[in-house]
Amino acid sequence: MPDDIYLNKQEELFAALEKELADPEKVVAVQIAPAVRVSVGEGFGYAPGEDLTGKTVGLLKALGFDHVVDTPLGADVNIYEEAYEILHALERGDDDYFPVFNSCCIGWRLYCSRAHADICKHISPIASPHMITGSIITSYLQKKLNLPRKRIVSVSIMPCVLKKYETMERLPDGSPYVDYVVTTAELIAWAKKRGLDLKSIPEAEFSELLPGSSKDGVVFGVTGGLVEALLTTLAHVLDVEKEDETFFRKDDTIKERKVKLGEYTLRVLTVHGFANFEKAFKEIQAGKKVHFVEVMNCPYGCVGGPGQPLPPTEEKLKARAEGLRRAADSKRLFATVPQENPTLKMLYRELLERPGSEKARDLLYFHKVELPKD
Ligand code: SF4
Repeated sequence: MPDDIYLNKQEELFAALEKELADPEKVVAVQIAPAVRVSVGEGFGYAPGEDLTGKTVGLLKALGFDHVVDTPLGADVNIYEEAYEILHALERGDDDYFPVFNSCCIGWRLYCSRAHADICKHISPIASPHMITGSIITSYLQKKLNLPRKRIVSVSIMPCVLKKYETMERLPDGSPYVDYVVTTAELIAWAKKRGLDLKSIPEAEFSELLPGSSKDGVVFGVTGGLVEALLTTLAHVLDVEKEDETFFRKDDTIKERKVKLGEYTLRVLTVHGFANFEKAFKEIQAGKKVHFVEVMNCPYGCVGGPGQPLPPTEEKLKARAEGLRRAADSKRLFATVPQENPTLKMLYRELLERPGSEKARDLLYFHKVELPKD
């Protein structure tokens, strides 16, 4: 494990990773956030928005990783748990539970803890897809390969430099959810340093041990994606007609809608670009009843994250957002909703039991939060 968890100096980060990869005692796994697949190509001459999922997996294999897992698997698990938490609150008529704010954006969580400490208790208790994927990787590989945690290294490729803070969060056994975070821009630099060119790398598949993710998990990386995933998952759980997703696929900075799901009517709101949050929040403070709020700190969501290739022009962000929605709809994925993802089903069967179980709370929820106070 790294002594200095920030490892923001690229040379130190790359040297630490090379050492882990060269260690025959270690199994090194890596996860790829949704937004990375539509931006990593920019460092190798591809157009912004091109879906390079298979090539990114190939690149990580060429760098020496043993297992490549898709962060959307953790997003599937996150939204599956979230849907049940919300449903249980609705069933018991618990109005105080709402509004629920998303936990997946670290920029939002940090901003909330400084500017709106009073509403932090409304942030979902379920860890971010990044942390959940890290937790699943280490728990499942320990079980499947019969290895102690110290022989497993969990790395993430993220569009967000702030995600490095999530290596400070701890599971109940004291171990981190994730050991190292590498941004998209750092991955490009590392590959080039190794003389690897994405254009000549063949496509490869995710680890056969944890291969699957759904459309809902992939669309998380763009504004409106989390709400789209939540609504389709809730509709599936309730066995009612699902909301048309076109509305939440618009790029407007603030989107708000009342949605009917069987006997329930939910008001949901999405906002991207942290400067727009206060505008949306004023109405909630004034008493507007909202059930779920998706806040993405960056413009267009994680596709516009502070770890993506520079410069982040409006045109580029739009192309990445559209590219990620296309990638979410691609046939390469295993399912459209989390509940139909065979890997998620296997995880609940072999590891997590059911949404909200003691095991699920141990592995998928926040525990000891050690984010910096200033
Ligand atoms: S929206 Fe921005 S700050 Fe938030 S997790 Fe995504 S990249 Fe990071």
